[in-house]
Amino acid sequence: MLNLVLFGPPGAGKGTQSEKLIGKYGLVHISTGDVFRALNPDSDLAKLAKSYSDKGNLVPDEITIEILENEVAKHPDAKGVIYDGFPRTNTQAEALDKFLSSKGSGITMMVALDVNEGELKTRLLSRAKVSGRADDADPDIIQTRIDNYNKQTAPVADFYKSQGKLRLIDGIGSIDEIFNRICTAIDKG
Ligand code: ADP
Repeated sequence: MLNLVLFGPPGAGKGTQSEKLIGKYGLVHISTGDVFRALNPDSDLAKLAKSYSDKGNLVPDEITIEILENEVAKHPDAKGVIYDGFPRTNTQAEALDKFLSSKGSGITMMVALDVNEGELKTRLLSRAKVSGRADDADPDIIQTRIDNYNKQTAPVADFYKSQGKLRLIDGIGSIDEIFNRICTAIDKG
């Protein structure tokens, strides 16, 4: 199995690159952000998740881990999975390792997209025009998301680095240039 964690700050291009990677490698794409946004908006779970995400904060680990495990269970025959936007805390990373190893599986590598803060803000504000996402439209909320990423999520890279699985990719350039960099890293193993 090829199990990839696609990692990087909000606006780094994880969703865009995931779309291309699933085609090339035949993977299932699981984005926890997409899963939260696809919940029935009238459900308690959707309202709870939205109460965090609309402010730019992370949804609590316990809820997110359960959502993720349910989503993985929907694809028992997957050749591999791209985890996009998960894990976002060390607790989530540990839970994912435990969950996958209980299935005799594991993460192959973490592909981490490196993009500077100025570029992230430009990309998110321009995405807001088409995404309709409340968390993309407000510069203060974008800043909160970036700050939370630096504080809570960036340390997850060290978790995979210590396992020799971290591959750092320059996330500035054209979509195809970045895609080629990622493919080179994946194919090298
Ligand atoms: P982006 O990467 O552009 O910030 P996502 O679509 O991945 O956006 O996530 C949107 C929101 O969903 C996050 O700001 C957060 O509130 C919530 N979310 C997504 N994934 C997780 C996660 N793994 N842990 C906690 N909250 C999450």
